Amino acid sequence: MAEVKIQEGESIESALRRFKRKVQQEDIIKDIKKHSFYLKPGDKLRANGIGRSCGANRNRPTPTRWRPMEFQDRILSCVDCATEFIWTAGEQQFFADKNFKNEPKRCKGCKSKRAARPAGAGMSRERVETVTMCSACGKETTVPFKPTQGRPVFCKECFQSRKFAGAGSV
Ligand SMILES: [Zn+2]
Ligand SMILES: [Zn+2]
Repeated sequence: MAEVKIQEGESIESALRRFKRKVQQEDIIKDIKKHSFYLKPGDKLRANGIGRSCGANRNRPTPTRWRPMEFQDRILSCVDCATEFIWTAGEQQFFADKNFKNEPKRCKGCKSKRAARPAGAGMSRERVETVTMCSACGKETTVPFKPTQGRPVFCKECFQSRKFAGAGSV
């Protein structure tokens, strides 16, 4: 318990102030003790080992699923275009991670072509090819879309040159 002795010539008020300060200090210490009591043994260990444990973790060989030696680049051939393409070790690892059972059947080009095809690709219409006049040079040209009424249509060359010109000036 907090205790102060009144010094010679000290006023009661001053002694009380000292007493209060001491009580507060003791309360703080009590608080700290109370809190530390509530720290579980594991917490205490962890609190003590901060920093050190990080270093230990870094030195310990991390158990990763990455086993590069298991996979080697393989050459597969595309079922669509028969082009040979490389199925890289990294991609094989990715497949293994995702538990994909089937090897890739198509080269990147054919895969992206298939992916780009809209749903219901089996019923997809023939590509729209409209013969029209170029709005810039008047040459007859084919466009892969149906031109909207009133909208200018350009042949490939004019379209390209306009695109490049636009990119420079804007
Ligand atoms: Zn292909
Ligand atoms: Zn043109």
